[in-house]
Amino acid sequence: MDDHSFTFLKNLLDVAAPSGFETPAARVWRAEAETFAADVDVDVAGNSYASVGTEGGPRIMLAGHVDEIGLMVTHVDDDGMLYVDGIGGWDPQVLVGQRIRFLTRKGDVVGVVGKKPIHLIKAEEKEKAVKLTDLWVDIGAKDRDDAAGRGVRVGDPGVVDTHVVELGNRMIASRAVDNRIGAYVVLEVLRTLSQGQAPAARVTAVATTQEEIGYSGGGARPSAYRLDPRLAVVVDLTFATDAPGVEKKQQGEHKIGSGPVLSRGSSIHPLMFERMAETAEREGIPYTIQGSPRLTSTDADAIYLQRHGVATSVISVPNRYMHSPNEVVSLDDVDATVALIAAFCRGIRDEDDFIPR
Ligand SMILES: [Zn+2]
Repeated sequence: MDDHSFTFLKNLLDVAAPSGFETPAARVWRAEAETFAADVDVDVAGNSYASVGTEGGPRIMLAGHVDEIGLMVTHVDDDGMLYVDGIGGWDPQVLVGQRIRFLTRKGDVVGVVGKKPIHLIKAEEKEKAVKLTDLWVDIGAKDRDDAAGRGVRVGDPGVVDTHVVELGNRMIASRAVDNRIGAYVVLEVLRTLSQGQAPAARVTAVATTQEEIGYSGGGARPSAYRLDPRLAVVVDLTFATDAPGVEKKQQGEHKIGSGPVLSRGSSIHPLMFERMAETAEREGIPYTIQGSPRLTSTDADAIYLQRHGVATSVISVPNRYMHSPNEVVSLDDVDATVALIAAFCRGIRDEDDFIPR
């Protein structure tokens, strides 16, 4: 990852854009895509597209979801306190004490998650886990009208007000690693493919929307319909198993720094998995395998049965502290994931047959 790409990644991670409100992040992604890719476009669901490679060649869709989890204002009380619900899945424990940046029609409004001081908490309350309904956000408003005057409306989205930090050993932390990393990887694959000889395949990167609320498939569903790809690679995150409390017996073993994680399982195309694993071995890219006996809880679920079926694989970057204000990944794993998918795409020819016979 050179300085230019790292700056792009940081910009992509820091822009606030939860599910359904992805436009600011999608704009950053498309602006970068415009500098080296073709057919940069956006659809009605907010999905962004960019392509490289041979027109008329086998179509490969690379999907990384550009949304992030967030909060939404559900009520403003007489005292001007904001009540919120989650956009996507939160553990409310990680929200206690955080600052929240709301995106209002008059610009950003920052508040703090309120909490009863420890001196006032009864002994039996201390034992209980905090629920989202116990929390409120204080933006310093005098009352409801004051909050409204600053632009706050019910339905305003917000994110935890944090920025990228660099940790040691090539690790970074950000609230939007899930899954701007995926959106970054698919575009960096295109950047890699745009340098040197054009691949025989037509490779389209898609920054998909609404994955975090995607029980009906999110933006990936219409984007896969539109592209009608032969192959799809979904880039997301999985649980790094070198953080305390993560069970290897269920997750397999995927340390930070151990390279991309290849899902293998019932909704993953077997020939895609084997081809990806062979590519990694040929290129000398370390990888680990994650068993996936059901659906994947990623964009792949919305893609693999689209139209007449799409041979789909899922590649994940090991991640600590998923769905928290400080999701950690290794830049080495991110780079290795880009290199693997780029090598895979370069190797695809029109005659390659992914029908399991
Ligand atoms: Zn997620």
